[in-house]
Parts: sequence; C-alpha cells; structure tokens
Amino acid sequence: MDNNNILQEIYACKDCKTCMDYCDTFMVSNDLLKSPNGRLKIAEKIFTNKEISEEETIGLYTCTLCAECDLVCEQNISISKIIYSSKIKLVEQNKAPLAIHKKIIKDIMEKDNSVNGNPGERLEWLPEEFRDEELYEDKESDTLLFLGCMSSFRVKESAITAYKILKKCNYDFKIFKNEPCCGEYIYSAGDINLAKKVFQINSELFKSKGIKNLIVTCGGCLYAFDQVYPLYIKDYKIKVRHIVDVIYELESQNKIDLIPLNKSITYHDPCRLGRKYNNGPLYLEPRALLEKCGLDVKEIAQNHSECPCCGAGSGIRGVDSSISIKIGKKIFEKVETKEIASSCPLCVFNFRYVNYKTQSEKEIKYITDYILEAYKN
Ligand code: SF4
Ligand code: SF4
Repeated sequence: MDNNNILQEIYACKDCKTCMDYCDTFMVSNDLLKSPNGRLKIAEKIFTNKEISEEETIGLYTCTLCAECDLVCEQNISISKIIYSSKIKLVEQNKAPLAIHKKIIKDIMEKDNSVNGNPGERLEWLPEEFRDEELYEDKESDTLLFLGCMSSFRVKESAITAYKILKKCNYDFKIFKNEPCCGEYIYSAGDINLAKKVFQINSELFKSKGIKNLIVTCGGCLYAFDQVYPLYIKDYKIKVRHIVDVIYELESQNKIDLIPLNKSITYHDPCRLGRKYNNGPLYLEPRALLEKCGLDVKEIAQNHSECPCCGAGSGIRGVDSSISIKIGKKIFEKVETKEIASSCPLCVFNFRYVNYKTQSEKEIKYITDYILEAYKN
C-alpha cells in the first residue's frame, strides 16, 4: 500500500468502534493502544512523520494480524494491512523491530529456525524406521513436504503423522535434510528487506532441487509460500498446498481408509487457513476428515471466518505472552470438549502453553494425529 492510500483509508475511519468488539487483543487488555481503532491512530502518526511512544510501538507489535477487524469495518478499511505497513515504516526508520524480534531474527539467520532449535536436531522427529531409506534432497521428486520450524522442533508429532500418512498412501514426495525457515517471522516483524532476501534464497534452493509443489503443515508457512512469496519473487511458480487439503483429496480418491475413533472434539480454524488464505479457505476439508475419523466435531461459538486467532500470531508471544494466554483462555471457556484439534502447529503450541499456564485440562492435537490414529486402526 502506498502512503497516500494508507492515509486516505485512515481518514475514512468514522470512529464507530465496531472493530473493537472483534479484536481479542483489545478485549483481553482493555488498552486502546491494542485495539484496531487505536492502532490506526498510531499508524496515522507514523505516516505523517510524527514520533510515537514505546507504548504505541508495543501497541502495533501486539497485533496478531488476525485480520478479524478487516471483516467488520463498514468503511472497508484494510486495518491489518495498515498495521503491517506501519511496522515496515518503523523498521525503515530504525525504530523497530523490538529487541525480542531482533534476537529471533538473528537466530533464524544463524540456525535456520525461529524457535532457537539446534539445527543438528531438526530431523529428530523422523521415525527411526524411515532413516535408512530416506533419500532427502536426492530423491527424484518435485514435491517437498516442508515441515517448518514449529512442526520440526516444537510440535513434532505434526511432522511425524503428516509424513507417515503420506508414506502409507505411497504419495510421491521428499523432505529436506537441511530445511530453511520460510521467513514469515521476519516478514511479520516488518523487516521486509531481509525477508525478501530469505524468500529469494529459499526460492533458488527450491529451484535447484527441482521443487514444483510444496506441502506444508503450518499456517504460517502456507501464508508465506502461497500469499507472500509470489508478491516478491519473479517467476515464482510453486504450487503450495496444506497437508489437510492433500489428505482430503487422497481420502476422496479412496486411498485412505479411516476407522471411527468415536469421541467428541472441537475444531479451531487457524486464521491463515481461513480468512487470511486467499486460495482457500479450508473450513470444510478438516471437518470432513475429522468426521470421517468418526469424531463428533463441535464448534467454537464463532467459527470459520469469525474464528478468533489462537493468540499467537505475528510474534506476539515474545512481546507480551500474557495477551496470548488470556486470548487462549477465552477460547477454552467456549470449548465444551476436552480435546481441541487444529491444523496449525503454532495454534497447537500456543493452546498447550495456555493449558499449562492456566492449569486447564484440555488436550490439544494436530489434525493428522487423529487421521493417523484412525488410519492405523
Ligand atoms: S488484526 Fe486482529 S489483533 Fe490486529 S487489530 Fe485487527 S482484530 Fe485486533
Ligand atoms: S470499524 Fe472501521 S470505521 Fe469503525 S472504528 Fe473501526 S476502523 Fe474506524
């Protein structure tokens, strides 16, 4: 967005405050600086070259970029895009990102992951029985199962189960021994120049390894590879699919037999598979698969495009984890079942963190855990 368009949109705001009723970071903090309307006022200062305070910078960086506010603004203001553009502007002025982002970005550049994982342990999730036969980059396949930092290091069962399901279906794919970070964290922090370099390096890597298709497990990787890379990389022709979409197709082709697990679970829609997924959304497919697993799928009061963010989007946990906990707790209060399923490992990770911090008794699983369990039976 260019500066004039941004200011025009900001000036179109009628201060009706409707957006504030939909913004979880505002609802749990009651802080105007952490509301869509308040963030637009911070953006106005930035785009008219006024100084902003440290609290206002934090106001911007505690936005999960969930885009829920965008859906309800009657003035059609692209609120989350303006918040994001403000971050870019702050980085250009050397006023951002925050120290925590700089540390994580340094880790990404040095260790190829955003979760401070030991690069030598990236493949620890790979089941023993596949280690001898796995050819990694050398396998003749143009399809890469890209696990990403969260699945590789923090929610390893999402990597294991996704991999095993594809193997059981004899799906043609390969994995990388030295997988890079997709760069979404750097992009979200507003460091667009560095993010573009990472996108370029990764695109060249994919090209050199003959990759034409990517299958991802993480909502952040899906967003980066599918929505963001094409904006910045010339001739980017990689087809990107989420693992749920691929398994849904395999099941529709009768390549997967699922046997009922017979229990109730609640499905949470990740923002980046829903309202932030231009080539989606994936609402029907995960529910259909879970139902095929014999699960009674319950809903959170607001679902699909209105589903609240898990509370962890866009690096907010590092800035103020108490907001992530409060948002997650609010979601738990609306969930009747003990078990919650998600198709994003970051959502799973945050919900598990909330579960621990609030001493709740929820059990949070990645969607392919259920599918493999039903498949195994
Ligand atoms: S994108 Fe989400 S967190 Fe950010 S202001 Fe809008 S509703 Fe609030
Ligand atoms: S809903 Fe739109 S017009 Fe109303 S306060 Fe929010 S940004 Fe302004």
